[in-house]
Amino acid sequence: MPLPTPLVDSFGRVHTSLRISVTDRCNIRCFYCMPDENIRFKPRHELLTFEEIERFAKVVAGLGVHKLRLTGGEPLVRAELPKLVARLARLPGIDDLALTTNGILLAEQAAALKAAGLKRLNISLDALREETFRTIARRDGLDRVLAGIFAAQRIGFERIRLNAVAIRGITEEEVVPLGAFAREHGLELRFIEFMPLDAENHWSSEQVLGGEEIRELLEAEFGPLLPAARPDPSQPATDFAFADGCGKIGFINPVTQPFCGDCNRLRLTAEGQVRNCLFSVVEWDARELLRGDASDAEIAQLVRDCVAAKKPGHGIDSPQFVKPQRAMYQIGG
Ligand code: SAM
Repeated sequence: MPLPTPLVDSFGRVHTSLRISVTDRCNIRCFYCMPDENIRFKPRHELLTFEEIERFAKVVAGLGVHKLRLTGGEPLVRAELPKLVARLARLPGIDDLALTTNGILLAEQAAALKAAGLKRLNISLDALREETFRTIARRDGLDRVLAGIFAAQRIGFERIRLNAVAIRGITEEEVVPLGAFAREHGLELRFIEFMPLDAENHWSSEQVLGGEEIRELLEAEFGPLLPAARPDPSQPATDFAFADGCGKIGFINPVTQPFCGDCNRLRLTAEGQVRNCLFSVVEWDARELLRGDASDAEIAQLVRDCVAAKKPGHGIDSPQFVKPQRAMYQIGG
């Protein structure tokens, strides 16, 4: 097989990772992502079919993308998701297939997902207190998320990570319990800074609970955190290991320590728009090509155009920053 021609942008970043949103729907309503009510979800016919997603993934695999992550909205609310997983898992060139989920439906679906070829899971868990969970998610469900985590562990995924969005004034009290939970259950934990991608436009920089501050809270409780190896330079997290050998913690600090210089990610929204950045205000319409009679070469060219237009950074910290019109659930986190 010929070697793929890589997707290199004008700053030399090689794109090898694609996040695929399979739906904009979700079964909770986290305030940092979605509106609470009056949501106009995309009608079903606008969402890419599994066949269309598979074709797009096959084209980008031919351009050097080898890592796929399914996301949303909440990917597990998309009917028959394991069928898509099975299609993607057998694509030539794809060596890493992962899923990001809020965990609510995971206990029911973990076995089928694993059997279909899913290797890795990121499970979002911002809080271990019922009340904080409800403040953030505006729905109940902590017990179901925990059941999902334990089910996934029993079923034996290669790797399970917990992702916690950190919000000043809300989750400081959750940091140490989350750290203890991760250590006790042998789970990796990553804290993510709150980004300006909420649908209700309430984000302010004062609400960002920075990674450095969280690290201090954890070290005060559990002792020193030592910098860990960085096997993948494009990984968004800076990882640390507890000096006592019990557990690893990562920090994704897009606001206080942007990592755009190493970004290798592309995104495909649930309705088939290609994005080169979470904060992009431009999209490339792959659905039109997938539903027309476009060739694979034309789809590949669209992806190349999208990569070529990528900016050096998200610019959250710049006075010229323009918040994208789409919120996180409409893009795919
Ligand atoms: N529903 C799935 C889940 O909860 O993991 C997948 C989609 S969700 C949009 C992906 C990740 O983005 C979650 O970990 C979520 O907490 C995070 N997220 C959503 N909005 C965010 C924001 N404004 N800032 C930082 N992280 C955010």
